[in-house]
Amino acid sequence: MPELPEVEVTRRRIGPLLVGRRIREVRTTRDSRLFLTRPTKLRARLRGRSVAALGRSGKYLLAEFDDGARLVVHLGMTGQLFSSAAASPRLLSATRRASLTPEAQGDFRPDAHTHLQLRFEDGGPQVFLRDVRKFGKVLLLEPGESHPRLARLGLDALETTGESLFAALRGRKAPIKAMLLDQALLSGVGNIYADEALFRAGVRPARRAGRVTRLECERLAAAIREVLERSIETGGSSIRDYITPDGSDGFYQDERRVYARGGEPCLRCGSKIRRITIAQRGTHYCPSCQS
Ligand SMILES: [Zn+2]
Repeated sequence: MPELPEVEVTRRRIGPLLVGRRIREVRTTRDSRLFLTRPTKLRARLRGRSVAALGRSGKYLLAEFDDGARLVVHLGMTGQLFSSAAASPRLLSATRRASLTPEAQGDFRPDAHTHLQLRFEDGGPQVFLRDVRKFGKVLLLEPGESHPRLARLGLDALETTGESLFAALRGRKAPIKAMLLDQALLSGVGNIYADEALFRAGVRPARRAGRVTRLECERLAAAIREVLERSIETGGSSIRDYITPDGSDGFYQDERRVYARGGEPCLRCGSKIRRITIAQRGTHYCPSCQS
């Protein structure tokens, strides 16, 4: 699932391809669970608008238009927002990929999973939203309009401080890992980053959140920012369906120390990494390095 770093990488790469450009035409697939705003309305409403900014709130991308309307995009499990300049054969089915010459494999043609196509008046690169499993969301907010999903979001994970984390965790009985995944507390920390940050901070994921000390909160906040920033630098994780908007794969997965390494030796001490389940999510930690 794309997490905050992947969404931020998407924002930084796609932003320059959107900002200042006027939309000539919007093509969509049929109405489905993906569209919180009906496709017919999107097509009519966005035509002729130009994009003023591409922002992010937690894992939501927010394209702001010249009239103050905002298009909210959540990438769900398999969403990809990229431009027609993108080149990754991974976007194509195996049979289609095999039928192309190596030179042609870079060309993306919108398919049944391409739910949004933005064409621009300048005739330059189009921007696509593709989502195979359709757990993503697309929503248009009129000027000044808000949405409960956005209003509920906690502090942006990239701006976490030890002090704010410590304050938020007081009296909480849930495991610290579950609290880190709670988007109302901290927006944008997903499963991989929660496990990695807890490892770096030396805190066991099952610890009762309210018992994590002030000092540990300092270490944990620093670790959260560090793993997220490092992942943004390397282009995000590239697990399963995620690809970066320009079609290249992310590299963060090569830096994982505990996530998805259950049964393997800890890179720091050699103990076997354990895998447990917390908040229905696979959770990985070192029993020696984390207490
Ligand atoms: Zn260890």
